[in-house]
Amino acid sequence: MEMKTCPSCGAEVPAPASTCKTCFHDFKATAKQKSSSPVLILVAVAAVVVIAAGALWSKTQVELGSRVLIDSTSNSVQMIREFSDGKTETASVPFDQIASVEFVEDLPDGTIFLITTSGERVKLAHGDPRELKLKASDYAEAVGKPLTTKDESSVKVQQ
Ligand SMILES: [Zn+2]
Repeated sequence: MEMKTCPSCGAEVPAPASTCKTCFHDFKATAKQKSSSPVLILVAVAAVVVIAAGALWSKTQVELGSRVLIDSTSNSVQMIREFSDGKTETASVPFDQIASVEFVEDLPDGTIFLITTSGERVKLAHGDPRELKLKASDYAEAVGKPLTTKDESSVKVQQ
């Protein structure tokens, strides 16, 4: 690697360095004629953009599907979400924190929520309403909690 000598302390430092690693002398302050600086800034900006895009991409990972597991050994409902990058996310709600199971029919879809004892609504499944309505009653029975149903589509249609 190309080296340069620090004018302040005489240490040998790599040529692209902007500060001396020994005395922190700022080379840019004395070597403003360096035409590579704007290019370096552009490269740094591009790197930040790439990193940000990468972070954004990982957050918008496509969800391949989700499974619901009523685990009677740990007495909890587990939601396993699978993503396109092979990652899985598991959330679990213990039976004793579930107040009720709610099925919302918002045609053309249906959604199952777990209503927790603290009043939180946890989305459990979303999809074909006919299939989910049956699942919702199965889940309610499995966790031993009441099932409530809401029909939000009729409200929308009447407007
Ligand atoms: Zn130095």
